[in-house]
Amino acid sequence: MERKAFDVKKHDFKEWDSLFNNPQPITIKSFITGYVILNKRGALNPDHPKAGVIEDELLEVPVLAHWIHHEKLGDYLIDTGLDSSYYDDPHGNMKGLFAKLFIKANLFVDKYKQAENQNIGYHIEKNRIKLKGVFFTHLHSDHIAGTRELPKNIKYIASKEEKYHDYKPFFYGDYLKGVKTLYEIDFKDAADMPILGKCIDIFGDGSLWAISTQGHTKGHTSFLINALNGPVLLAGDVCYIKLSLKNGVAPSSYTEDVEVNQETFDRIIKFKRVYPQIEVFCGHEIP
Ligand SMILES: [Zn+2]
Repeated sequence: MERKAFDVKKHDFKEWDSLFNNPQPITIKSFITGYVILNKRGALNPDHPKAGVIEDELLEVPVLAHWIHHEKLGDYLIDTGLDSSYYDDPHGNMKGLFAKLFIKANLFVDKYKQAENQNIGYHIEKNRIKLKGVFFTHLHSDHIAGTRELPKNIKYIASKEEKYHDYKPFFYGDYLKGVKTLYEIDFKDAADMPILGKCIDIFGDGSLWAISTQGHTKGHTSFLINALNGPVLLAGDVCYIKLSLKNGVAPSSYTEDVEVNQETFDRIIKFKRVYPQIEVFCGHEIP
C-alpha cells in the first residue's frame, strides 16, 4: 500500500462561532456493525484521580461506522466498522501462523459479536450509499475491518502519522487488502483553531473538519460535522463510552499514550463546555 498526500483545501475560518452560525448541507448517520467486549476498568483509566474505584466489568459496546452525506459532494464513511466475517467468527477471520494459538490463549485478541445484517456492506446497500471515500479515525481493526467488503476504487484517508500494523505472517486480518493508496492528512498544514488545536477543513466549505487528536494512537483523528441539525464531534477512541464524558476520565486500555490522550480529551471536554450545542459521540457509545 503506497501513501500519498491528501489534498487539503485552504480555509478562511479562524473561530468556531461563525462556523456554527453557518451549518452546511451535511448529515450524519451512525451504523452499528457489531459489538466488542471491553473491560470497564481500562475503558476508563482506573489511575485517573477522578476515576474513583472502577471494578472489572465486561461491557458489550457497539463497533461503529458513520455515514456522512453531503448534498453537493456525496457520500463518505468515517471508519468502516466490521465486515460480515464476524457473524460466525468472534475474531473476524484472523489469519497467520500464530492466530489459532493467540486466540486459544486469549492473547492480543478481542471478542466480537455480530447479528445478521449488521455488517457495513449491508448498511451501504440498504441505504443505497454511493461511497466516494472513507476517512479513518485510526487504523485499529475495529475501525477498519469493514473495508474488506467495500469497493476499492474510492479514496481511503487517514492521518500521515497513523501507522498500520498487520503482523504478517504471524497474526493478521488483511483489513486493508486491495487498498492501493492510503491518502494522508498532514496536520502540519493545519490551522490552529480555538481549544481543539490543529484542524483541517476537509472540503473547504466548513462542513467537515479533521482534528488531530493524538494519544490513543499517534495519528488519531476526530471529525467535526457542521450539520444542519447541529454540530457533531466524532471523538473516535479518545473516549470509548459516555461515562468518560460524564466524569472527564479518558481510557487507558488499548491507548498508546494515556497521558497525551487525557490531554486531548480535556480539550474536547472544554470544547463541549464552551459550545454546549455540540453533540459529542464517543468511539464505542453514541448518544
Ligand atoms: Zn475502537
